[in-house]
Amino acid sequence: MQISKYAAIGAGLLLLAGCSHADKRQARTAGQHAELGSKAQASRQPTPPPPRKIDCDQVKCVALTFDDGPGPYTAGLLDTLKKNGARATFFMLGENVGAHAAVVRRMALEGHELANHSWSHPQLTGLSPAGVRSQIQRTQQAIAQASGGVRPTLMRPPYGATNKRVGHDIGMPLILWSVDTLDWRYRDVARDTRVGIKEPQPGGIVLYHDIHKASVESIPKVVDGLKKRGFTFVTVSELFQGQKLTPGVTYTERLKPAPVTASPPPAGSSAGPAGPGPTRPGNPASPAPSSTG
Ligand SMILES: [Zn+2]
Repeated sequence: MQISKYAAIGAGLLLLAGCSHADKRQARTAGQHAELGSKAQASRQPTPPPPRKIDCDQVKCVALTFDDGPGPYTAGLLDTLKKNGARATFFMLGENVGAHAAVVRRMALEGHELANHSWSHPQLTGLSPAGVRSQIQRTQQAIAQASGGVRPTLMRPPYGATNKRVGHDIGMPLILWSVDTLDWRYRDVARDTRVGIKEPQPGGIVLYHDIHKASVESIPKVVDGLKKRGFTFVTVSELFQGQKLTPGVTYTERLKPAPVTASPPPAGSSAGPAGPGPTRPGNPASPAPSSTG
């Protein structure tokens, strides 16, 4: 005798709940079938995997980040990342999300981090508080809608331009970078590859733009080269696991466990050129982000 899958699931659930044989029979009525069917359907809906538990103080981590997309090359980039088991973070423009909704959904399902890069890439320091909030909120909504409910928790201000007021209006931790590949300027696969392999340090955040063909074409070799250097590819949230990120404060890399090899002052005692908040927890010894982003 063959019983349907859903009836079997229903019977299993009821058995677990300690129900009687009569209850099991009841579960096979058409109405129950439909309900169990829709529940099974809902549970089959793919959901984004949770962040992995990776201790980036112990593991050599790097966060590849891609700005200004999604665009026509983003799907190919996802193929490369998938093939290598690598996760990345996408700082997306809200205005690009609707046209690439399927790609955004796929990003989420494949474990990448979806993050906010404003709606239309203005310099936020030139906008009113209401203008800043609109840039952020519209993008949050677009990403949530495209992805099936993922709401970004990290923001990267266009050009890395921010200040204390803008940071407050954004209301999320501001993620800059420790390696600026300048891919947007050179659009040169060989250069993008060389810089991407050579420059990252453990705990670093690398800036690329997935709207440029050359950048996306460099990633297979970059991933390969960084793997050979012993790196694990993490999302930005994974990178900062165990470290509390504060809304409105900028971060350029994972904080090093003290003591550090250089002799920077303790975090909080200096604010670099891009540091808008009362503290700038990024390693003060790291290069200041340039005006790309
Ligand atoms: Zn940008």
